Amino acid sequence: MRTEWIARLDMKEMVVLRANEATTIEEHFAVPGPVAAAQVDRWFPGWHRDNGSSRAKLLDFCDALDVAPGASAVHIETRWLKERVQSALRRQELLVVPALRQGAFGPLLPLITQNVVELPKTRGIYIVYRFDIPFYIGHARANIRACLEIHLPRKRRAFAKVPERIVQFDYYCPRIEQETVADVLRELDPATFGDMGLEPDPVEPPAKCRHRDCQCLAYDDRNSRGSPKIRFVAAMKAVCACGHNYVEHD
Ligand SMILES: [Zn+2]
Ligand SMILES: [Zn+2]
Repeated sequence: MRTEWIARLDMKEMVVLRANEATTIEEHFAVPGPVAAAQVDRWFPGWHRDNGSSRAKLLDFCDALDVAPGASAVHIETRWLKERVQSALRRQELLVVPALRQGAFGPLLPLITQNVVELPKTRGIYIVYRFDIPFYIGHARANIRACLEIHLPRKRRAFAKVPERIVQFDYYCPRIEQETVADVLRELDPATFGDMGLEPDPVEPPAKCRHRDCQCLAYDDRNSRGSPKIRFVAAMKAVCACGHNYVEHD
């Protein structure tokens, strides 16, 4: 069974775990070995004065290393503990990984069934990432859970080339009715997301244009000839084949 330890380091919740038990995602986000080793003095303040909480934390780390001194712990020098931990971090036998890894909207979640079944059945925007690099932004007009179910590994189409063990997502569901997709997308960093396309809902049929009695069923932006780009939707400049603004298709 996998074991992990939670430690507060530099005011952040971190997970400490054995490298041979880490997932590919955790390996990716781990503090690099030499950096972690160099931060040990900061992570365990006052270790040289046998500071109680630093010593307790060091003992936890040593547990993770299976070098726990057990009953004789009281006789072990804090310096010895610290040096063991430091060398384990340097050699990356132990990994220190931020407990919460943030996406644009919130914590990054592995795209697996157990994270998807907990989603609300409401409209929303979701981003799918390779580790923390976004590559797909989807818009669910009615049911974000149903949309993401389509993207789960066995049913997945869009991400088939991305190994499932590195795919993560985050999402945002507007709480107020009046909040539009453009409002939500305006909050995203244009340098990272601006040129990505806003992908249509894979579950629902395309939304008809609501402009008067237009009823157009197209989706692509006639300027970029593909899914409307985030920066254009956010600026209300995405225009469909019918000539009406993307918001009419929202
Ligand atoms: Zn129209
Ligand atoms: Zn249209």
